[in-house]
Amino acid sequence: MSDEQAEKSCYVCNVDAKEVVVLPCEDKGEAKWVCVRCLPPLIHGR
Ligand SMILES: [Zn+2]
Repeated sequence: MSDEQAEKSCYVCNVDAKEVVVLPCEDKGEAKWVCVRCLPPLIHGR
């Protein structure tokens, strides 16, 4: 039994990983998940 997928959602917009692709990332040393929609702005910074 694996519940590794259970709590995956984008930490920016909170979209569920079942609806959109989310990728592992790190924010200030904390492991997070971010969806592909929120990732580009994060890469470019604001
Ligand atoms: Zn997002």
